[in-house]
Amino acid sequence: MKMIMLTCLLLSTTSARQIAAATPVDWSQINKETLFHFINLLKIDTSNPPGNETQAALYLRNVLTQNGIESELLGPNPDRLNLVARIKGNGSARPVLLLGHTDVVGVQRERWRHDPFAGVIENGYVYGRGAVDDKDNVVANLMMVLMLKRSGLVLNRDVIFVAESGEEGFAKEGFRYLVNHHWEKIDAEYALGEGGGGSIKDGSPYLLAVAATEKVGRGAELIARGSSGHGSMPRVDNAITHLARAVARIAEWQPPMRLNEITRAYFERVAEISDPEKARRIRDLFNPATADNAGNYFKKHQIRYNSFLRTTISPNMFNGGFRPNVIPSQATAYLDIRALPDENMTAFYQMMREVIDDPAVELIPGRQMNPSSKPSGLKTDLYRSLEAVQKRLYPEAITLPMLLTGGTDLQPLRGKGVHAYGIGPLKDMQDGEGNGAHADDERISEKALYGFVRYLWEVILDLSS
Ligand SMILES: [Zn+2]
Repeated sequence: MKMIMLTCLLLSTTSARQIAAATPVDWSQINKETLFHFINLLKIDTSNPPGNETQAALYLRNVLTQNGIESELLGPNPDRLNLVARIKGNGSARPVLLLGHTDVVGVQRERWRHDPFAGVIENGYVYGRGAVDDKDNVVANLMMVLMLKRSGLVLNRDVIFVAESGEEGFAKEGFRYLVNHHWEKIDAEYALGEGGGGSIKDGSPYLLAVAATEKVGRGAELIARGSSGHGSMPRVDNAITHLARAVARIAEWQPPMRLNEITRAYFERVAEISDPEKARRIRDLFNPATADNAGNYFKKHQIRYNSFLRTTISPNMFNGGFRPNVIPSQATAYLDIRALPDENMTAFYQMMREVIDDPAVELIPGRQMNPSSKPSGLKTDLYRSLEAVQKRLYPEAITLPMLLTGGTDLQPLRGKGVHAYGIGPLKDMQDGEGNGAHADDERISEKALYGFVRYLWEVILDLSS
């Protein structure tokens, strides 16, 4: 029995590989089709709010139907539906989920050189809101299911395509709705979505970042209370004075620093490709005797690294008072807290209270939007596939595991035990931040888009055939 099963497994594996080899992809045709759907998706204005993502979901459903692929539109709000489709595998492994969001952030139209909802191409770049956040992932995922269906390949696992609504701002009717109400339709071993991406330096691919974990957005409100009175007679219990002191103490405090599997691997790899001085500073992090010094340096000079190393707190709102000559009885501040994925927040808030050390100031913990979870591992089959395909397609580059300081909808999946990784197209480092996600003139190079589709295709085959 065991022997027979093993033979069957071997046979199906071999045949999938053989079919893959025997059905070479006509990439120039696929590129044309990718661009066609990409531009059509960019032309659908899904600015959130209000979103109106159903228009994009209907477009996708239409394309899928024309290709003989069934799909479902799901959600409690008819204007903001999510799309789910599935290409069946032979069931010997659990599914892989391809996630992208159809909504985009709004625009200041007058600041764009082209209409942000026209899909204009200029000098090899496609301009449009959503070009890199996140209609690039949506179209690449769409192409995966189209290519799989046409190839007739039977992979060892199902491939699930999800185009979610409402990612930009934690909408209840988007991905969270699917997680809470239709888990059986999206349950998977692995997931790929936004949050990573590659860099091109001096014309050649340099690194491919894979987001394997992310910070968990928390917050806290500080409320200082004192006596009100006439401004001509200053009071020692002035609420604004107490609040200002509390905020200053928090800002000067260095929350404890630590590495996890992902950030350790990240810093080790970055040290390998850095100039000697930077490499030494990074390696100082690994030595308890020098770690604090390095951490303090990064807090001032490399704020991204500082955010990788600890739970961070940024005071972003400060309110108090209503007339120049009135001492107010209350003042409030809002602190933006981004927690390391394994932070014990009850203990962390307690540490904050001890740092503030003032009974006149109350700390109210903020709501947790995403679950805390373990990082997705670096020894999984999918991570290995991501690395293997990078070595094949871009041998001069490296794959860099990363902690995302912002948040994506991969985190609710990690909370459910799914190994989820953020990936993305290659971006030219000379481009700077000017044309990136949420920026005016958001754009992607045609080459990067096609390269991303190719990369994703090879990853899916490597993982599942
Ligand atoms: Zn996004």
